[in-house]
Amino acid sequence: MATKLEYIWLDGYKPTQSLRSKTKIVSDFGGTLEECPDWSFDGSSTEQAPGGSSDCVLRPVFICKDPGRLDAYLVMCEVLDSTGVAHESNGRATIQDDDNDFWFGFEQEYFLWDPETNKPLGFPAGGYPAPQGPYYCSVGANNAYGREIVEEHLDLCLEAGLNVEGINAEVAAGQWEFQIFAKGAKEAGDQIWVARYLLERVGEAHGVSINWHCKPLGQLDWNGSGMHANFSNTTLRTCGSKDIYDKICEAFRPAVAECIAVYGADNDQRLTGKHETASIHDYSYGVSDRGASIRIPLYTVQKGWKGYLEDRRPNSAADPYKVAAVIIKTVKSAKL
Ligand code: ADP
Ligand code: MN
Ligand code: MN
Ligand code: MN
Ligand code: MN
Repeated sequence: MATKLEYIWLDGYKPTQSLRSKTKIVSDFGGTLEECPDWSFDGSSTEQAPGGSSDCVLRPVFICKDPGRLDAYLVMCEVLDSTGVAHESNGRATIQDDDNDFWFGFEQEYFLWDPETNKPLGFPAGGYPAPQGPYYCSVGANNAYGREIVEEHLDLCLEAGLNVEGINAEVAAGQWEFQIFAKGAKEAGDQIWVARYLLERVGEAHGVSINWHCKPLGQLDWNGSGMHANFSNTTLRTCGSKDIYDKICEAFRPAVAECIAVYGADNDQRLTGKHETASIHDYSYGVSDRGASIRIPLYTVQKGWKGYLEDRRPNSAADPYKVAAVIIKTVKSAKL
């Protein structure tokens, strides 16, 4: 029987990489990663290689069912150069988390976008809908726009076996969120990218594009989109110590520039100090504080300083592999 393998990878565009994919037909496929051969693509068409030496390698790293197609799988790949070395665009290869001790829960926000009006769903062509307030977690045709896309996406993710933990309508009209949790930074990044891929494809079928930009409505009074990174390791989950939490949060202070460099393009437009964000120029942390760079959830404190932290700065267009990599590096740099 013929099986469709959709090989998915990230291109080399800067500052924001996009998803690319192509289909490989194989026969007698058993459904395992080990059966997926390396493949190649034209890196000169994706800003990943010069035309004279264009071949790049796709190395399969994650596989799941493709519920939107008959007899099909989605195969997330890392990109290697022609000599087999991780390509400079390959953020996944930079993750130092061999024991999968880090757990991540990413909250992916995005706008459903009408390509004809070039505005979010729910925005009239010639103006603006009512101001923010009624849209967050709303129901009803006056306030919730595009739910059929969101629901279709959720079902596909669950059928694919992705660990989606929830969805909600967000603060701006046409803005939504899904959350994915995974143990291990690579697994978390793989699942977010595959979920983004599935969302792009559902949107395509409805003639709606996905706007991943962190501030697509500019400096008007509309929220931007984040990808809050909730994270923990054994220390954060078990220490029971405010002092250790403070030390880990302090480790992020000298790392601000390094973090912001991978927390997504144009984040200065989003991290303004308004709309539940901290200013990009400050670094702060606090219990239950949604105006801080890093929030210590109340739940973590109530459990006696055992839980996780939420870095609120990564934006909707950030690469979860790179976000996870810098968080792991920074937490490990804390002097406990
Ligand atoms: P909020 O919108 O209040 O910031 P959400 O419920 O949208 O919160 O997201 C919270 C995220 O925190 C979820 O994705 C969840 O998986 C994640 N999370 C919970 N516990 C942990 C943990 N121990 N380590 C890492 N992430 C966690
Ligand atoms: Mn060709
Ligand atoms: Mn959330
Ligand atoms: Mn949110
Ligand atoms: Mn959050």
